[in-house]
Amino acid sequence: MFEVVIGLEVHVQLNTKTKLFCSCATSFNHTQNTNTCPTCLALPGALPVLNKEVLHKAVMLGTALGATINQTSYFDRKSYFYPDSPTAYQITQFYTPIIQNGSLEINFEDGRSKVIRVGFAHIEADAGKNIHDGDISKVDLNRSGTPLLEIVTQPDMRSAEEAILYLKKLHSIIRYLDIGDANMQEGSFRVDVNVSIRPKGDEKLYTRVEIKNINSFKFIEKAIAVEVARQSEAWEDGVYDEEICQETRLFDQVKIETRSMRGKEAAADYRYFPEPDLLKAVVSDEMMQKYSKIPELPDAKRDRFISEFGLNEYNAGVITASVETAHFFETMMSTEGVTAKTATSLLTVELPSRLKGDINISNSAVNAEKLGALAQRIDDKTISAKAAKDVLDFLMENKDMSVDESIEKLGLKQVTDMGAIEAMCDEIIAANPEKVEQYKAGKEKLFGFFVGQTMKASKGAANPQVVNEILKAKLG
Ligand code: ADP
Ligand code: MG
Ligand code: ZN
Repeated sequence: MFEVVIGLEVHVQLNTKTKLFCSCATSFNHTQNTNTCPTCLALPGALPVLNKEVLHKAVMLGTALGATINQTSYFDRKSYFYPDSPTAYQITQFYTPIIQNGSLEINFEDGRSKVIRVGFAHIEADAGKNIHDGDISKVDLNRSGTPLLEIVTQPDMRSAEEAILYLKKLHSIIRYLDIGDANMQEGSFRVDVNVSIRPKGDEKLYTRVEIKNINSFKFIEKAIAVEVARQSEAWEDGVYDEEICQETRLFDQVKIETRSMRGKEAAADYRYFPEPDLLKAVVSDEMMQKYSKIPELPDAKRDRFISEFGLNEYNAGVITASVETAHFFETMMSTEGVTAKTATSLLTVELPSRLKGDINISNSAVNAEKLGALAQRIDDKTISAKAAKDVLDFLMENKDMSVDESIEKLGLKQVTDMGAIEAMCDEIIAANPEKVEQYKAGKEKLFGFFVGQTMKASKGAANPQVVNEILKAKLG
C-alpha cells in the first residue's frame, strides 16, 4: 500500500495598482505592450524600485497564516531564459523570503481538522505572456513585472482531498484579505502540484514530479489521481526507478494524463545570487502595526455565525467559504427583523437555484439589500415563505422593482388582519355544525379540515399561523 505525499506551490497575483518595480499599471485588458516602461522591458540602465504596497499585502497574508514576517528581507536573481522574460532572470526572494513558518488549518466534512505547514512565501515578479497565433508567436509584456506572492507548503498533504481543502481555504483567505482577485481561469491563482508516493509507514520522501499550471480545482484533483496511478503502477511493475524522475509535467485536460514537459532544474541551475540593483525590503514597525490588523477570516466568521446567529456548522461553512456570500449574509442580517433561518434559506437555497450562466451573487439582479428586504417580509408575515419564491422569481426578472412593489403587483400579501381572519373562521364554523360536534367529541383530526377551509376561503392569503391560533381558541 502506498501513501501519497503532496506539497503545493501557489502563485498569487497581487492586486496592486502598479507593478512590483515600476509605476506601470497592472491591468491586462489593455492593448498589448502598452503597460510597459524601460524597467519592465529590461532596457539597459533602467533600475527597479520596490512598490511598498506589495509589502503591505505580504504583511496581511503573513498575519493570516500566523507566520513569521521578516521585517528585513532580500531579493535574489533566478537566472533562466524564456522569450517572455526580457531580463533573462526573475527577481525573487530565495535566501530570505518575507514570510516564513506559517500554517493553515483545513477542515474535513466529518469535523476533523489538520494543520498544513506553509514553509515560506516570497515576493517575485511575474513574466510576460507568449501569445501563439498560427505560425507565429508574439510576446506581450503587459504582465511583465506584476507582483506575485509564491506560497509554498511543506509536503504535508496525503490525498487529493487534502490538497483541494488547502487550496480552497487559501483561495478564500486571499479573497477575504482582498490582496488579489485569485481568479484561477485568468491565472491570478496558479497552482503547481508536487506529488510523490511512498510505501505506507516509510518516513523518507521519494522522487516527486511537479505538475504545472492546472486551472481549476476539479482538474487539480484529476491530475493528482492520474499521477498517483502512474507512479504506483511503475512501482508495482518494478520500473519505478526508470520511469519516475524529478521533472516538470503538464496536465492534459483532454486526455486526462500528465506528460513530461521538461527535466526539473535543480537550484544550482538557476545560479541564484543577491539582486544587486535593489535595496533590502524593510517592513517598518508602523507598517507591521497597520497591516497586521486584518479583516475577520473565514474560520473566525464561521464560528461567530454559529454562536451569534445559531447557524449549524454546515450552513455556517457554506456561507463563510466565500467572502461575497459572507458579506451578503451580513447585509441581510442587518435588515430589521430578519431571522437567520429565513436569511439562510433564501441565500443558500432559493437564490443559488436562480443563478444561471454568468450570473452570480455579485451581479445578480437581486442584491443583498433586496434579498434582506424579502426576508424581512417573510419574517414580519407580510408574505408566506411559499409566496416569497414567486416574489423572488419576479425580482430576478424585474431588476427595477422593489420587494414591496412586487408583492403588491403579484397580489401575494398575506391577510394578517385578525378581524378579517376571525370572520372567515366564524363563517367556516357556522357552515359546518356537525363537524364541530365531532371535533368537540374528540375527533381531533378534523382540525386540519377547518384550517384548510379557512385558508381556501382566504384564497391562500391568510397567515396559516394566525388561522391556527384563532381556530384553536374558537373550537376550544
Ligand atoms: P523547488 O524549490 O525545487 O521547487 P522545494 O524543495 O522548494 O523545491 O519544494 C517545492 C515543493 O515541493 C514544496 O511544496 C514541497 O513541499 C514539495 N515537495 C518536496 N519534496 C516532495 C516530495 N518528495 N513529494 C511531494 N512534494 C514534495
Ligand atoms: Mg518550485
Ligand atoms: Zn514598467
